[in-house]
Amino acid sequence: MLKKVAIVGGGITGLTTALFLSKKNFEVTLFEKNKLLMETSSKTTQLIHGGLRYLESFQLKEVQNGLNDRAWWFRNFPNETKEISFLIPFQKKNIDFYKHFLGVKFYDFLAGNQNLSSSKIADYKTIEGFGLLPNFQKGIIFSDGHMKETLSQKLIEQTKANQVSLIEEHEINVLDSNGKVGNEIYDAVIISAGPWTKELLDRNNIFTKFDIDYIKGSHLVFEHYLNPESSAGFMLPDINKERYIFVLPTSKGTLVGTTEVPINHPNYHSINKFEEDYLIESINNYFVKKFKRDAIIDSYSGVRPLIKKGSNDFHNASRDFVIEKQGKLFSIFGGKWTTSPSIARKIVKMLST
Ligand SMILES: Cc1cc2nc3c(=O)[nH]c(=O)nc-3n(C[C@H](O)[C@H](O)[C@H](O)COP(=O)(O)OP(=O)(O)OC[C@H]3O[C@@H](n4cnc5c(N)ncnc54)[C@H](O)[C@@H]3O)c2cc1C
Repeated sequence: MLKKVAIVGGGITGLTTALFLSKKNFEVTLFEKNKLLMETSSKTTQLIHGGLRYLESFQLKEVQNGLNDRAWWFRNFPNETKEISFLIPFQKKNIDFYKHFLGVKFYDFLAGNQNLSSSKIADYKTIEGFGLLPNFQKGIIFSDGHMKETLSQKLIEQTKANQVSLIEEHEINVLDSNGKVGNEIYDAVIISAGPWTKELLDRNNIFTKFDIDYIKGSHLVFEHYLNPESSAGFMLPDINKERYIFVLPTSKGTLVGTTEVPINHPNYHSINKFEEDYLIESINNYFVKKFKRDAIIDSYSGVRPLIKKGSNDFHNASRDFVIEKQGKLFSIFGGKWTTSPSIARKIVKMLST
């Protein structure tokens, strides 16, 4: 007999899990309180990546895992993903330059035969046309994955085609570890409610040993500073030289992000003036043509549900995930857009044994 599974939360984690389970012939119903892929999963920097910067904190396994999943997205959605190259500019070849060069080479190595274009050093001649201030004479170029806008829709279509029952605008308030969701009983219940997972468990008096740090991240979209047809962006140390900011071309405009602001609750988040100033000041350290506030055409914010580890270094905090099993209930904490296939694979394994 088919196993009946309920998934609560229709972000990327829930949707990819639904797709994987349906391919293994589970009978899947997914409940989403709003619209599919409209919360955290639509507020990203649009990267399909292993996370180059996590190498700085030696999260080798997680980076490699992300790179494997990057390859999965490229294989399964070749028309909805594309390669993007990023330039990290430098004023001179100092220790930092060589450290970064080793980092990108190691990133290529971890990707193995699934690597995209090899990373390389860019001399002044190469970076001349990038619009940078003249003191930036050197650069390092590496490649990563970029989601096209069609990716979300294609994923939803595939999931529907696989007979998953997708129920939008249906909030689940009552569930338990015996398989109950509302008035129905399922063989397994998966909570993939992103930043709302802990809150949903609390509401149902289900104890969890995990807690979440809610870290708001915001983006600005400027009118086209970078050619929308180009597949080259920038990874830039911020104004405090503590973290990186991405600047990349999209069809809508030039995307700039992101920030890290701890908040108390995942609802009601939006960009504030401080974040706007921080993003604009950081990138204007690099370009001849300044990014101006009146060229902002859009902005958006999302909340990273990071597993609480007791550190305030959110930039380097692990984006790894855990799945907590209690009876028939499987609660997912953490993860990244890119690594949702890893989460889905693990759920399939747990439900198949
Ligand atoms: C600023 C920012 C930039 C990022 N950039 C990247 C990036 O470039 N690449 C990358 O790989 N990752 C990125 N991430 C991480 C990535 O966005 C998240 O890891 C991922 O989107 C989380 O997906 P999710 O499905 O777990 O959560 P969500 O997308 O939030 O989905 C959870 C869903 O559950 C629903 N829900 C909640 N409660 C209930 C309920 N009671 N009943 C029914 N439905 C419910 C919500 O409405 C929501 O749709 C970024 C995150 C942020 C915040």
